[in-house]
Amino acid sequence: MWRNWAGDQRCAPAAVERPGSVREIAAALERAAAAGQRVRVAGSGHSFTDAACTDGRMLRLERMDRVLDVDRASGLVRVEGGITVHALSAALAAHGLALENLGDVDAQTIAGAISTATHGTGARLRNISAQVEAVELVLADGSTRVCSARDADPTAWQAARVSVGSLGVIAAVTLRAVPAFTLRGVDRPAPLGETLDRLEELGAENDHFELFVFPHCDTALTRTNNRVEEPPRPRSRASAWANDVLLTNHAFHAFCLAGRALPRFIPALNRTVTRLAGSSTRVDRSDRIFASPRLVRFTEMEYALPRERTAEAVRRVMALIPRRGFAVPFPIEVRLVAADDALLSPAHGRPTGYVAVHMFKGMAWEPYFRAVEAIMDDCEGRPHWGKRHFQTAETLRPRYPRWDDFQAIRAQLDPGGRFGNAYTDGVLGSLSNVRVEG
Ligand SMILES: Cc1cc2nc3c(=O)[nH]c(=O)nc-3n(C[C@H](O)[C@H](O)[C@H](O)COP(=O)(O)OP(=O)(O)OC[C@H]3O[C@@H](n4cnc5c(N)ncnc54)[C@H](O)[C@@H]3O)c2cc1C
Repeated sequence: MWRNWAGDQRCAPAAVERPGSVREIAAALERAAAAGQRVRVAGSGHSFTDAACTDGRMLRLERMDRVLDVDRASGLVRVEGGITVHALSAALAAHGLALENLGDVDAQTIAGAISTATHGTGARLRNISAQVEAVELVLADGSTRVCSARDADPTAWQAARVSVGSLGVIAAVTLRAVPAFTLRGVDRPAPLGETLDRLEELGAENDHFELFVFPHCDTALTRTNNRVEEPPRPRSRASAWANDVLLTNHAFHAFCLAGRALPRFIPALNRTVTRLAGSSTRVDRSDRIFASPRLVRFTEMEYALPRERTAEAVRRVMALIPRRGFAVPFPIEVRLVAADDALLSPAHGRPTGYVAVHMFKGMAWEPYFRAVEAIMDDCEGRPHWGKRHFQTAETLRPRYPRWDDFQAIRAQLDPGGRFGNAYTDGVLGSLSNVRVEG
């Protein structure tokens, strides 16, 4: 039985394999073909959707976690697909390099992170997949295909960067890293209305700006991370633990448990958490500022919106929660991301604002998420591929100007539909010739 991080997506693969090389991936694919099975690669299981699930053959790339090549001068770094973002960041730091932006955890594999267009925040910065220069795929017939930014026709590269596991096994990627940098991270509360009014401005003024707001509160918890020419000042282990684990996780967990047991107290609890949040400043290596431990289990939905509709969407979600009486002990999160050109990137072709809603483990999420999704639909939203949503290929196709180009590459690279699962059947549609030959 395989489970995702949140523990709410499970599957029983017919077989699980842990290949250690491209040749072993090809052999696993041959066995899948002989058994008439479809194939999924599971990364770290950090998707909230069933993106990695299969009842066919599951591949895990934990043994393919090496840094293969580092060119400090160009910043080009070639790594195996199973390396985690955490291990990659540590390896890059040892070479004086870093990824220009990260999400808020670093447990994902690099292949899993790019496959769903994992992003951080930064109005001028694109998602992680946009830092990918080449993707090395092992296709259903065991052959390898390199999709590179330098191809005469870059369409396959634009498809392979964000492909929800549907084109082949990502054995390796080449990323463009940047010189290592220090960030000053400042967390502080600010009035919500004013912060939303100034969202564009705050995005422009800061390298990385995001905000959290608890339902029933009129104070936003803002986070600004800016580059500084200072050496990192890492916190002591005790201080990091007190803040990241004790306060951010254990104390918050206690509030969530109280809210789950006594939902009518959630508005008061949310206001208390907001009051306790306070201000803090840290100066540290970029990856240590971006990512922090997440020990409280939850599920999540996140939508990519045209940037100019972000504040409106947040206001509508904030109004929806008391109106419909939803019990929500988790904050709404707002991040900004630059446009990119991956065919299935939710930020494809437009400056984007991401709005995320969460629900504590064991609490009803579906009515809340469906009501939020109606607002996101109305605001031209595109869902995060790794987070919950209720869209289908039919509802998604009109939202992606190059949807059909992606499908053409999919039909070309995986004509037999070997790399599908129930999730891709739903959100990408079955290829008309999806038939797994035994
Ligand atoms: C606590 C938490 C915090 C998060 N924070 C953020 C955030 O800040 N920003 C954000 O955008 N997202 C965030 N996410 C979502 C997460 O980044 C994505 O769901 C990401 O795809 C997970 O990567 P993974 O390695 O766990 O891959 P999985 O979830 O295991 O798989 C994701 C997809 O990638 C495919 N895949 C994985 N490896 C390969 C491979 N080698 N070849 C082909 N396909 C492959 C899988 O088949 C699947 O379709 C968060 C999730 C959690 C649980």
